[in-house]
This record gives sequence, structure tokens and C-alpha cells, in this order.
Amino acid sequence: MDLFEMSQIPLEIAMKKMKLDPGVAAIIEHPERTLEVSIPVKMDNGTVQIFTGYRSQNSTILGPAKGGIRYHQNVSMDEVKTLGFWMTCKCAVAGLPYGGAKGGIVVDPAKLSQRELEILTRGFIDKIAPIIGEKMDVPAPDVNTNAQIMAWMMDEFSKIKGEYTPGFITGKAICMGGSLGRTSATGRGVMTSVVEALRTKGIKPEDATCAVQGFGNVGSWSAKLIHDAGLKIVALSDVGGGIYCEEGLDPYKVAEYAAKHKGLIAGYPGTKAVTNEKVLEADVTVLVPAALELQITQNNASKIKAKFIVEGANGPTTPDADVILEKNGVMVVPDILANGGGVTVSYFEWVQNLERYFWTEEDVIEKQHAFMVKAFKNVYETSQKYNVSMRVAAYIVALNALAEPMKLRGML
Ligand code: NAD
Repeated sequence: MDLFEMSQIPLEIAMKKMKLDPGVAAIIEHPERTLEVSIPVKMDNGTVQIFTGYRSQNSTILGPAKGGIRYHQNVSMDEVKTLGFWMTCKCAVAGLPYGGAKGGIVVDPAKLSQRELEILTRGFIDKIAPIIGEKMDVPAPDVNTNAQIMAWMMDEFSKIKGEYTPGFITGKAICMGGSLGRTSATGRGVMTSVVEALRTKGIKPEDATCAVQGFGNVGSWSAKLIHDAGLKIVALSDVGGGIYCEEGLDPYKVAEYAAKHKGLIAGYPGTKAVTNEKVLEADVTVLVPAALELQITQNNASKIKAKFIVEGANGPTTPDADVILEKNGVMVVPDILANGGGVTVSYFEWVQNLERYFWTEEDVIEKQHAFMVKAFKNVYETSQKYNVSMRVAAYIVALNALAEPMKLRGML
């Protein structure tokens, strides 16, 4: 089963529970618009290399399309279509006035010089410029893209339009119109989801333990803020393997160690080295997969000891694993709810750009908390009402948000 087929399973279950017009699912299963572009780059060695880029605008029913741009050798149209579909659902669950989109370039950026990367980035924006803009489609960073790449994109788009256009893209540096609180936003939303999930079972954060897979942006910030919320972090992992400490880890200190050791956490003093598999299977209250897709499958789902899985990554759990976890009483807080904190603060960045008025970090954190708690409550109550998993409930919430505007617009 490919990622797109996998992404449709909870949507179909949600549709059956709701008895909605099948047109609602059919509309968001098909992107409104996709674009494939070729970008020629004169390389440092004098040859011309052609790169392929994609943008899939899944939906603009609730607002401008919104979603990141990734640079990776495995990017494909199928992948950006699936990720764009998830963005539509994620924005709808978070209650944001956005549709969904995703884009990418087939490239391993580590193999390019800074000059080549800048030319490629500007070339991609030149090609997709006719379909993006602050009222049409608002990109953001994703895998292997960062604030520097967003700055080149904003500069190129501003030149094409002949005007200063910070609101066409989010994830920018503060001096380029970025928002305070954006770097930690996804991890902060994961932390709020963890605390709210524990609350549903009356568990105090101080009585809970946690393992986090992945120690990049989402994993490290999730670990730090979950630690601040009072849980004991006992296991962490990254691409170089895992570390375990029953007495608890201080993720701030682990991050300092990683910064001095090529970004990797292996060898952190006072810990036992463990495999990534063991981190997923750790005897903890909460597991946060925050690295990659397809990590919890039918092969390891029955070995998961955590009572809660809070998905920091997109698509870490397969549908067959979901069935096993549900049978075992594990609450899975799905990606389209749990990692929505990032796009929520991207929305705040866009609002600040449109208003040309900037908020304090406290404002951002307070407003993000309110959005996340409301979204969690909505999904949790829906799961109780329909007697379904949190994942299916999140799709019910998304479909509900989309169905009425579809009807009023005359699409159904
Ligand atoms: P990142 O590149 O900053 O970090 C990825 C981390 O995963 C790194 O620590 C890496 O070492 C680790 N990793 C890679 N392979 C691994 C493996 N086999 N086992 C264990 N760890 C491994 O990426 P990120 O921005 O933190 O994104 C992580 C996930 O969260 C992705 O699925 C992404 O789509 C999703 N996500 C990110 C954001 C965001 O704001 N950054 C928002 C929503 C969802």
C-alpha cells in the first residue's frame, strides 16, 4: 500500500460513520491543481542540470492553500499529493482559514553548493509564481528547507511582483517578517497534545514517562517542552541510534551535547545505547514518533508498551498498526491534530505579515495554546460521540468543516 492509499483509509471510515455525501471525500481526494516544473541550473562545473519540482494544491475551500516545500531525492508527485491532502485536513482540524498544499524538488541538497542551491530555489519560484501568493497559496519550510531558503524565495517572489510580499511564505527569519515562537511551535503543539491526552485519563504529567523518536526540530522541541511540562523523558533517538536512562534525561543538555557531536545524541554520558526499535518499544506512558513516516507497523505495533502515541511526524503509523493499537487500548493522537502547532503559528506569521504588526512571543504561545486545546477537545469529544479512534475523529472534524462550505459554494 502506498502512502496515498494509506492516507485514505481513516477518511473512508470517517465518511461511513458520518453518512455524508460521498462527494465531500471525492473532492479532497483529488487535488484542485498540480504543477510539475523543470528547473535548469548552471552547475559550478559549467554543465546544465535539469531538476524537477512539484506543487500540489489540494484544496482552497477554507482559504488559500497552505503547505511546505521539501528538497529530497525521493520527492514525487504522489508524495506531494498525499502531503497536500493531509495539510487540508490538518488546517481544517486546527480551525485555520486555509486549504492544503505541498511542494518539493527532486534533489539531494547536500550535493549542491550554496550558489547552486540558491539558483535552484529562485528558479523553482520563477516557475510556480503564477499559482502562488498570499491570497492563493502560501508555502513554508519542510524537509531540508529552512529560513535561508524561505528568504531566497521571498526575495525572488517580491522581485517578480515588484512589491514587498512577506505574506506569501512563512517560516522566515524574524528580520524577514517571521514570527516569534515559530521554531518551537510544532513541538509545543505536541506537548499540549500530550498533556491533554493524559488529562483524558486523569494522569498527571509528573506521573508519566515519555520516549521520543527523532531529535530534529520536532523531536528536540517536543522532548524539551514535554520535560518542562513535568514528564520524565527516559528514551530518545535519532538517525544514529537511541539513548536510554531510567532516571530521566534533560533534553536541553542532550541538545547541547548533540550540537558538539555532529548533531547526534549517541554517546550522551550516563545513558545506555539502545536501538531505534527499542525506543519505540520502551516501557513508557507516552511515545512520540517525531522522525519519519511508517515507523509503527503491523510488525511492531503489538510490542508497543506506551498507553499514548502522540504523532509529531506525519504518517508514522500504518492503518494495520492502528487496528492493533486500538485493540490494545492505546490512544493515538493523530498527526493531523498533534503536529498542527507548526501550521498554526505559520498562520499567525501570515496574519502578522498582512497586518504589518508583530506580536510578542507570549502572545504567540498563548494563542497557540488556545487553538491546540480547542482542536484537541473537539477531536476528543467527536471520538466519544461516534465511538471511534482519535484518528477517525480528526477526519470527521475535518470533513464537517469542509462539507458545509462545499454545499454553500454549490459544489455538492
Ligand atoms: P528534522 O530533519 O529536523 O529531524 C528529523 C529527525 O529524525 C532527526 O533527528 C533525524 O536524525 C531523525 N531520524 C532520521 N531517521 C531516523 C531513524 N531511522 N530513526 C530515528 N530517528 C531518525 O525534521 P523535523 O522538521 O523535525 O520533522 C520530523 C517529522 O515531523 C517529519 O515527518 C515532518 O514531516 C513532521 N513535521 C514537521 C513539522 C515542522 O514544523 N518541522 C511540522 C509538522 C510535521
